[in-house]
Amino acid sequence: MKRLATHTLGCRLNQFETEKIAEKLGRFRFQRAPFEERADIYLINTCTVTHKADATCRQIISNVARRKGDAKLVVVGCYVESDRETVAALEGVDLVIDNKNKSRTDIILRNKWPEMFEQGTDVACENGGVSEFFGRSRAWLKISDGCNQSCAFCIIPTVRGSLRNNSAENVVRDVGRLVNAGYCEVTLTGVHIGHFKDKRAKVGSLCDLLKLLLDKTNVSRLRISSLEPQVVDKELIRFMAENQNRICRYLHLPLQSGSNRILGAMRRPYNRERYLEVTALARSEIPQVVIGADVIVGFPGETEDDFLATDSLVREVQFDNAFTFKYSVRDGTPAVKIREHVPDELAGERLERLIGTVREVARRKNANLVGSTHEVLVEKEARRGGLLQSRTRANKIVLIEGSAETIGSYRLVRLTGTTGSTFTGVPVAGRELAVLVE
Ligand code: SF4
Repeated sequence: MKRLATHTLGCRLNQFETEKIAEKLGRFRFQRAPFEERADIYLINTCTVTHKADATCRQIISNVARRKGDAKLVVVGCYVESDRETVAALEGVDLVIDNKNKSRTDIILRNKWPEMFEQGTDVACENGGVSEFFGRSRAWLKISDGCNQSCAFCIIPTVRGSLRNNSAENVVRDVGRLVNAGYCEVTLTGVHIGHFKDKRAKVGSLCDLLKLLLDKTNVSRLRISSLEPQVVDKELIRFMAENQNRICRYLHLPLQSGSNRILGAMRRPYNRERYLEVTALARSEIPQVVIGADVIVGFPGETEDDFLATDSLVREVQFDNAFTFKYSVRDGTPAVKIREHVPDELAGERLERLIGTVREVARRKNANLVGSTHEVLVEKEARRGGLLQSRTRANKIVLIEGSAETIGSYRLVRLTGTTGSTFTGVPVAGRELAVLVE
């Protein structure tokens, strides 16, 4: 058997696509290996969302190039799509595959290195989802790809193309398959999943798809990865509220800026008021909903007042978490033409202030949860102290004691402390769960 080691950078969509490639290669008897260990093929699935992401990809490629020996180093994904020549020229890279061909990676590898592929295992690959996620107890399912929006800072529409949805029938089949394979939690992912539609199946919205999934599968925890704020409506929020026992009460709603002037310059199709309206509705309809966001500071033209508008919105919404970024210009994006750059030092200083606000808000909210009891899914061994990492329906990470045999199962835990972002907890005696509503 040959060994395949993978490393994924970037979004959940990439994670899903790595697993998809690995599953297809598994049909040719490639066995998964941890990335640090010896393998016959090292596959790196890259991200190019910022310059920092590009630099991280180059660093990981160079680490593997130094230790790989005769193994093949294959680089796929968005960084290849945006700058193929640079990636292909990096020392040690044997093959690069762009996004258009990513789903054919197994075929491309087999044609290039037939000697690595065992004879007689040429199984036709069906166009389905993934049924195993290496080393993970949670699964992701890609329900769409690409994006038709053209936010001024974003390279994704260029590297992933326009919006395409999977069929509702396939999504139902794939969620059912993941549940049958033993996954308790499935996250629906894609670039812009809030625009999900399948006319042929009379599925007109993401909410319709969720109804179908609850009706046709036994999935016990369905999570939505990220939603553009403008597509979140009353119907979706009410449906989530009514089905909290199966749909996780977690909303990740990219904000990017709290200033209407900057949102306009970014070409974001909502304003501050609409964002506040959506988050207020979610908080009123879904008790204890957890809300996260992505926020960018230092977009061209951002003034101190614009920044303060973002900072105040973070406080007003009371985000539970937020991924904060300092704007960096990307070639190929509309924002390249905007000239009013914010000096790097000033953008860095605003980023520090915003991180401070996000942490302060999150710490206060998390401290209020200490003492409460939650259902968690035990995910994996934690990095420290022989503990296990588990996750609540509301996406809070809880470190607990326990044996590795409990990985993949539900437990009821009481939160005993918090670092501000993660929790410690103790199992509640005698309460081992099949499915439980928090
Ligand atoms: S919605 Fe905007 S930020 Fe999100 S992928 Fe599309 S263009 Fe990029």
